[in-house]
Amino acid sequence: MNVHDSEKVVGTLLARGYAQVETPDQAALILYNTCSIRDKAEQKVFSRLQQFRREAGKGRLFGVLGCVAQQEGERIFERAPHVNLVAGSASYSQLPQLLSRLESGDHRVTGLGLDREETFETPFTRRDNPYRAYITIIEGCDKACAYCVVPATRGPERSRSSHNILEEARQLAEAGSTEIQLLGQNVNSYRDPSARQWDFAALLMGVGEIPGIRRVRFTTSHPRDFSKDIVDAIDANPVLANHVHLPVQSGSSRVLAAMQRLYTREEYLRRIEWLKGARRKISITTDIIVGFPGETEADFAETLSLLDEVEYDSLFSFKYSPRPNTPAVNLEDRIPEEEKTRRLMILNERQRAIQIRRNTELIESLKEVLVEGRNASGQWVGRTLENRVLNFPGPDGNGHSLLGQYVRVRVTRAGPNSLAGEYAGLALGT
Ligand code: SAM
Ligand code: SF4
Repeated sequence: MNVHDSEKVVGTLLARGYAQVETPDQAALILYNTCSIRDKAEQKVFSRLQQFRREAGKGRLFGVLGCVAQQEGERIFERAPHVNLVAGSASYSQLPQLLSRLESGDHRVTGLGLDREETFETPFTRRDNPYRAYITIIEGCDKACAYCVVPATRGPERSRSSHNILEEARQLAEAGSTEIQLLGQNVNSYRDPSARQWDFAALLMGVGEIPGIRRVRFTTSHPRDFSKDIVDAIDANPVLANHVHLPVQSGSSRVLAAMQRLYTREEYLRRIEWLKGARRKISITTDIIVGFPGETEADFAETLSLLDEVEYDSLFSFKYSPRPNTPAVNLEDRIPEEEKTRRLMILNERQRAIQIRRNTELIESLKEVLVEGRNASGQWVGRTLENRVLNFPGPDGNGHSLLGQYVRVRVTRAGPNSLAGEYAGLALGT
């Protein structure tokens, strides 16, 4: 989502006549797009701001955008007095006006309102990848997970109209994008504000029918709002990725209640049953937080047993990080940092074994990948529809680039995080 926000900001700047440069020291205006989901990300922003200022930053304009900007607001001017612009993502639709104030010599400009209506749509998005395009379908979040800054930094949920989304997807397909990734904090909370009132499953079907689009991905799905219709849509249309990222956070219903996640382990597992019962094989991935206040050894053991039960294809794991303005920040019974680290290591080890086992099962299978680039040893790298990374040497005697092409690759080796294979020709319809 942040990558896509940056694309929109870059597009807005280009439309105002700015040109993008290779390195910060060539720039007259430097914008930092920031994340405050965990404390470490936030600290990095301030250290980068100071470091660059010392080295080469004199006489330039600096802006801080994104969630740290929204969270810290004008305090940023105190911590980093050389900053000129502070704006949260809910104010990006006003970016042209904010920039114009900067350009006319204003030294302290802020955009900190949490707009309740508007989404940040811009005709000027400059997309980094010509084959895969991100489309935001819903902004903000109406949930209140006890650990999470997002509702405070990105505001309440606002869905874009389905007409608008389909139009953007059509234009992208005409411009050569073949993969669309629908984005939102909780994509499946999508509610079409237009008269046709589509839900997320209907939107998926609509985007999946656009000529020229070969893959539709979506992230993130919230378990509470995850309906069987979404699985049925994936089953009905092979253009929809057979991959669902369904963050569980913990395997213990007690911890889930403390986190205010709005589902129990059993309810979550019901969704997993739907996914596993689909006609197509659907890859399932998740997010886990270890060391939430009060998480006992028994709670943690339940998370480990959930990994064994679901057998995720991959997961993002985090140590709980207390965040300002969140319900959990004042909870007692904090877990010591070393204990969080220990649990994280155990979790990752357990998951690594599962991934090795699951990836090994794919050896000898034929996969279609969209080629995204080359790895450090010069092999092509692509992604399968279920989002697995597959490396393969280029076809012999074929000098032309495979970038952006759909090709078939036979899997020959499997590691915990990626697969390796042999080129087996261009995919059908390429
Ligand atoms: N909306 C998505 C959901 O509810 O599943 C998640 C969005 S959040 C930006 C991405 C992930 O960051 C979460 O799934 C969670 O695992 C992690 N995260 C959020 N707040 C955190 C915190 N305070 N400490 C550690 N991890 C956190
Ligand atoms: Fe954060 Fe929870 Fe909203 Fe996800 S659903 S963004 S974790 S508050």
